[in-house]
Amino acid sequence: METIYNAGSGQAAEFMSDREIRDTMAYAKAHKADRELITSILAKARECRGLDHREAAVLLEQDEPDLREEMFRLARDIKERFYGNRIVMFAPLYLSNYCVNGCVYCPYHARNRSIRRRKLTQEEIRREVIALQDMGHKRLALETGEDPLHNPIEYVLESIQTIYGIKHRNGAIRRVNVNIAATTVENYRRLKEAGIGTYILFQETYNRTNYEMLHPTGPKSDYAYHTEAMDRAMEGGIDDVGIGVLFGLETYRYDFIGLLMHAEHLEARFGVGPHTISVPRLCPADDIDTDDFKNCVPDEVFYKIVAVLRIAVPYTGMIVSTRETPACRRKVLELGVSQLSGGSRTSVGGYVQEEKPDENSAQFDVSDRRTLDEVVAWLLDLGYLPSFCTACYREGRTGDRFMSLVKRGKIADCCLPNALLTLKEYLNDYASPSTRALGEQMILKWLEAVPRERVRENVSRFLAAIDEGRRDFRF
Ligand code: SF4
Ligand code: SF4
Repeated sequence: METIYNAGSGQAAEFMSDREIRDTMAYAKAHKADRELITSILAKARECRGLDHREAAVLLEQDEPDLREEMFRLARDIKERFYGNRIVMFAPLYLSNYCVNGCVYCPYHARNRSIRRRKLTQEEIRREVIALQDMGHKRLALETGEDPLHNPIEYVLESIQTIYGIKHRNGAIRRVNVNIAATTVENYRRLKEAGIGTYILFQETYNRTNYEMLHPTGPKSDYAYHTEAMDRAMEGGIDDVGIGVLFGLETYRYDFIGLLMHAEHLEARFGVGPHTISVPRLCPADDIDTDDFKNCVPDEVFYKIVAVLRIAVPYTGMIVSTRETPACRRKVLELGVSQLSGGSRTSVGGYVQEEKPDENSAQFDVSDRRTLDEVVAWLLDLGYLPSFCTACYREGRTGDRFMSLVKRGKIADCCLPNALLTLKEYLNDYASPSTRALGEQMILKWLEAVPRERVRENVSRFLAAIDEGRRDFRF
């Protein structure tokens, strides 16, 4: 018997109904030229309260130059309103590439014998984290393959403790986000107790049939268990979760709708949508040839996906990684992306020692190979304010508390001052002289934009205190 779509259900078959996704695709195609409907959707979107998956799917169908331009303009306006010119910086940290799964698009899959397997010891993690701190990073995303023998939850918990405990010169990792395999409520509770920021898990694709083909072996092959992981994470007390698909595995229309239905499901069931959405695209890697995948997403479509997501979920941060080229990153920053990785290494141990070409332990090829300092200088040059802020999680502003501040437009009162203070720390401790000069000008300019006089005065005081050697001020 066919299941009925129910956004508030705890079962993947109901909240991620294949029928609802296909009906939405058909609805969007049928209304592609319905100017009256499109105008009303754009008018609703302008109120910045988001769109549902059907409305967003209609926008995604639009290719007429005037409509496309209007959507892009709206995406830029919404981004400006909620995120200003701030871009939050982070770096991935690969702990282990042992994996028992058989994901056909990932070089870590268990049957790949040509990749060098490696798992960092706690001492090696220390060295990687010091290297990251010396670049200026404050926010990490931990990554591991799924392997109960090599990478049990105890290993992840111990690693988090190690990372938070490292204080090297003025460096500190202040927020550890975690991207590990779907697990139990009890393990999510333990991750929460260990002080993680966001729990990130990519769905890869929401199409069950395709998912099962792409994940032929290992625990990840259980579609329902994987798709319901965020529900268990929330039951375990983690209220900031990050979702994403790997665009290119399935038709982009299907997974775009799935992403929004997942967000709606979390909102319906737990009262809080995802904290972030990541938009990785399939790219080449060891043992993986993108020619094998017929759904690879071209740049023009990718830009439209980012713009319509920005319009549909204005309150959700959007992340792009170094899989993308600098030119593409520049474009998606304009259209909606609010978090960026910089200076990333996607190999295990890669921050201490970049791997030699024949060693091959990276998960994917990096297209943006610039150092963090180069990325920061580039952002400043483009008029953005790179931010190393981690304040919300440390001030207990998570889950629905965070979302209610965002929805009331209040979070920007914290974001701008924190961006200025954390950028100042970065400039004083890690930047090259030319980046520092650029950044100091930017801070002076944007200090004027802090709306409340008392806050502005405090920011000025804290900036002076940073020059005197003090650190870690936050709003
Ligand atoms: Fe393992 Fe994750 Fe790669 Fe799949 S995508 S093979 S689970 S590391
Ligand atoms: Fe993010 Fe909160 Fe910092 Fe703003 S204040 S940048 S929302 S952590």
